[in-house]
Amino acid sequence: MNSTETVTHKAGWIIVDPYTIIRDGYIGVESGLIGDIGRGSCSGHIIDHGPGALLPVLVNAHTHLELCALKDKVKYENGFKSWVEKLIELRNSASPETLKTGALKGLKELTESGCGVIGEISTLGITWETISKSNLAGVWFREFLGNVLPVDNTCDRKDFLVKSIAAHAPHTLAPNRIIELKDITRKRNLPFSIHLSESEDEIEFLQTGKGKWADFMTERGIDFSNWRLPVESPVKYLEDLGVLDKKTIAVHLLHAEEKDFEILSRHDVSVCLCPRSNKNLHNRLPDIEEMLQSGLKICLGSDSLASVESLSIFNEMAFISNAFPSIPPDEILAMATVNGARALGFEDMFGSLTPGKRAAFVYVPVEVSSRSELQHALVNADFKGSCKTVLQ
Ligand SMILES: [Zn+2]
Repeated sequence: MNSTETVTHKAGWIIVDPYTIIRDGYIGVESGLIGDIGRGSCSGHIIDHGPGALLPVLVNAHTHLELCALKDKVKYENGFKSWVEKLIELRNSASPETLKTGALKGLKELTESGCGVIGEISTLGITWETISKSNLAGVWFREFLGNVLPVDNTCDRKDFLVKSIAAHAPHTLAPNRIIELKDITRKRNLPFSIHLSESEDEIEFLQTGKGKWADFMTERGIDFSNWRLPVESPVKYLEDLGVLDKKTIAVHLLHAEEKDFEILSRHDVSVCLCPRSNKNLHNRLPDIEEMLQSGLKICLGSDSLASVESLSIFNEMAFISNAFPSIPPDEILAMATVNGARALGFEDMFGSLTPGKRAAFVYVPVEVSSRSELQHALVNADFKGSCKTVLQ
């Protein structure tokens, strides 16, 4: 819908942003954009959503929709390495049609769980068409690994959907490839994503130049003698390669420490965390409290349905709230909204309900009597089947 008629959306609570909440408020919408926001009575064409809350659509900044078809097929109880091997085997044996059908289901699940903006990581390159036909906004990252610079590395923009590039991880690409891929996105001022400091194999390889990953590369005849190893840490390594800046999204950071956070903060890098996936695959969680102390801007991703039970960012927030009770609910909500929009380069259009941004919000049926109860409810509920996403 893109009507020029002004429609006013009312609700018991309007979450303008995680820190600005209006009780008994309304949002005026015209031509798909947010106009007047206020409190109390309003006139004209009114849609009264109910006593619950309207909040900005959630941002899932890191997912792999092309793996949705593998849900419940890859066990993660046996550790990360066996999970990766089984994942690749199943993905390679699945037809593109099966994977595309899975991605379509994943998109439906995202919309039904209040998500309106995504960061999709596509290794096979098969989800662009599916996403571009949907009404979701976001960035489709074509992901690369290996030593060869891909031929198809185009970056593009189509309405609310951006095509950009992700480098898989610092231990799966030669340093010059990482630099070249980052340069392509830098020239277009587009976001660049990379898994960073995720597994023990990655850490051991980068910090010693030896270990299981080094053996794996040697067995396959991959020469890494000029990879500038060993390094102090994966984060320091990327700093030395010159690829850390405001448009870079560092994903996971499971093994990163205070000095790494200082580097990332200094370069204004966005951090994307997928704690449920980390727990399932690595039985470990990132040091979120220390990251916040360091001033890092954290956003959230679900990762793929091959490593988590759902794509819901409400579920991700509830997991963090439970695992880190000291983190205030407004900080968690910021991770799921405004920080995600910023990381993906959509802060002018999404992430908060402020005039001039897209009318993209989600209604949740909470019954609360105070602001603090509301904030607590938002980050501790599932809302599966009960939230309503409005994308105009
Ligand atoms: Zn990932």
